[in-house]
Amino acid sequence: MKRIAALLCLGLCLLPAFPRAAEPLKVVASFSILGDMVKNVGGDRVDVITLVGPGGDTHVYQPTPADAKNVARAGLVFVSGLGFEGWMDRLVKTSGGTGRLVVASEGVTPLICASEEQDNRMVTDPHAWQDLQNGKIYVANIARALIQADPAGAAVYTANAAAYTQKIEAMDAWVKAEFATIAPGERKMITSHDAFGYFGRAYGMTILSPLGYSTESEASALNVGKLIRQIKQEKVKALFVENMSDPRLIERIGKETGVTPGGTLYSDALSPPDGPGATYLDMFKNNVTLMVAAMRGR
Ligand code: ZN
Repeated sequence: MKRIAALLCLGLCLLPAFPRAAEPLKVVASFSILGDMVKNVGGDRVDVITLVGPGGDTHVYQPTPADAKNVARAGLVFVSGLGFEGWMDRLVKTSGGTGRLVVASEGVTPLICASEEQDNRMVTDPHAWQDLQNGKIYVANIARALIQADPAGAAVYTANAAAYTQKIEAMDAWVKAEFATIAPGERKMITSHDAFGYFGRAYGMTILSPLGYSTESEASALNVGKLIRQIKQEKVKALFVENMSDPRLIERIGKETGVTPGGTLYSDALSPPDGPGATYLDMFKNNVTLMVAAMRGR
């Protein structure tokens, strides 16, 4: 009896020592760009479910019952923050989950501008990931949250974050070197909505859009008319559609100004895996290559 009890105890006592180590930590990321960052830091230890996938528009996303289930099971829920995922608080509440909400943009210097669409009210631009230096802040926040949730993986997360940060740094240097070849007065472009404010601030580029910081409302005829005049006056050569916005407005502006759209930029979502913007870093490579080609007049 004693031996059985001892064995039983041994078995039970050993259980907590092997807390299903092979099982990855379940986390949710609100959208594809953030999901890619979390995968880079989390590696094999983390199972990342992304709610708004490639090509999706997070501004106007409507969560599904499957999303609520995933959030309920998640140990951590990553959002970019700054008002980007307006639907997330409610989703977390209704899911009944207990996973911690992690705001990846915490610590970035927010870009606050008057929104023409909203009677010049001051609004916060949510697209902070479009500055690679902010991307480094995201990575640090992601690593910190993963280490807190899974301390046994601290060394892995720290090493992954360091390696990924180096790649982000290298991409940042490449972007700056590319723009250095364009005269400052030529660094102008038009995109569907105001997703590149942080990008413009970081890389010395003026960006104009018929739509504001969100895709929720439609462009006013007044704004479109003003933009068309501005493109003609300032001889803007770079005009782009975005992967997650309706291309028709940009195509119309192209026709009326005689500027041929220079391709598709990835602003708020990645491309599918076989596309040219399948990761956060590939997105920059694709976007900057197209921008520079267009500004040079090809
Ligand atoms: Zn956006």
